[in-house]
Amino acid sequence: MEEIKIFAPASVANVSCGFDVLGFCLGPVGDEMVIRKSSTQGVTISKIEGQDLPYDVKKNVAGVAAETLLTSYPIDYGFEIEIYKKIKAGSGIGSSAASAAGAVFGINELLGKPFSPHQLIAFAMEGESVASGAAHADNVSPVLLGGITLVRSINPLDVISLPTPKELTAVILHPKIELKTMHAREILKKNVPMEKAIQQWGNLGAFVSALYKEDYELLSRSLKDEIVEPMRSLLIPEFESLKNASLNAGALGFGISGSGPSVYALTKGMDKAKKVSEGIKKIISPIGIDFEIHLSNINNQGLKIISSQ
Ligand code: ADP
Repeated sequence: MEEIKIFAPASVANVSCGFDVLGFCLGPVGDEMVIRKSSTQGVTISKIEGQDLPYDVKKNVAGVAAETLLTSYPIDYGFEIEIYKKIKAGSGIGSSAASAAGAVFGINELLGKPFSPHQLIAFAMEGESVASGAAHADNVSPVLLGGITLVRSINPLDVISLPTPKELTAVILHPKIELKTMHAREILKKNVPMEKAIQQWGNLGAFVSALYKEDYELLSRSLKDEIVEPMRSLLIPEFESLKNASLNAGALGFGISGSGPSVYALTKGMDKAKKVSEGIKKIISPIGIDFEIHLSNINNQGLKIISSQ
C-alpha cells in the first residue's frame, strides 16, 4: 500500500461527570486525510484545505503525532500528509484530535500495522500537546478505539473502551464564537471541595454502570457535572436556557463539549435528538450568533479507511 485516504471523525470529550477522562466518537462529522509514502525521510504536510493551519510539522498536531510514531519505528522513507478540514479548530469537538489520530492511524496502516490502537493513542497524545499545551488522551482515544472511552491514567497510559447503549444519540451545537482552550482552563479553580468531588465520582461510577446495563434513566441521573460546568458555562451564551430547552425536549443530559464553545446533549434515539435540536434552535436562533447543529450516532468504529492504493 502506497497511499491511504481516511475519514477522521470529531469527538466529544469531558462529557459532564467525566472531565478529562470520558470521551465519545461522533459519526458524520469529520475531516478527510490522505497519507502517502514518500522517498524523502521524515514527515511533510503538503496540503491543508478548509482552514488556515500550520504547515510546519512541529506546529501541526498531525506532524508532531506522525514524527513521534516514526521515532519508535525508524525507516528509510517518509510520509506526506494532506488534511481536508471540516471540523473547525477550537470548536470543542476534537479538531486537533482528528488530525493527530488520523496521522498515526494512516501511517500505521501504510507500515503494515506494527502498532495496536492503544499504542497509537500514546503517539497521538503527543500531537495533542501542541494544541493545548498538555498531552491529553480524552479525544484521541474514542477516535482511535471508537465508541465511548475512559482514560484511567495517562502516565502510565491506561484507556478503557466502554460499551455503547444501542440507541444512544448525540446532538451537538457549535455556536461560532471564539473560546480559547487556554482561557477556558484559566477560569478553573485549582481545588475541589470534598462534597463536590464525592458527587462527581458517584456520578462517574453510575454513568459507567449505566452504559453496561443500558440503563438510560441511570445514565440521565448521572450525566451531571458539579465541578467544571458551573464555571465554564459562564463563557457560553445562553447555556442555562439551552440546557433547560434540551432537558425539556427529552434529553438525557446536556453539557459542555471539550472546553467549549460547543455543547452536547445525549438522547435515547434519533426522534428525541430531533426534538432536542428544535428546542436548541429556538434558543440560539434569536441571539444572532452563527451556529451549526449536528445529530449523530455514537461512532463505534472510529477512524475509517475510505480508499487505498
Ligand atoms: P479542538 O478541541 O477543536 O481540537 P483545540 O484548542 O484543542 O481545539 O485545538 C485547536 C488548536 O490546535 C488551534 O490553535 C490550532 O491552530 C492547533 N492545531 C494545530 N494543528 C492542527 C490540526 N491539524 N487541526 C486542528 N487544529 C490544529
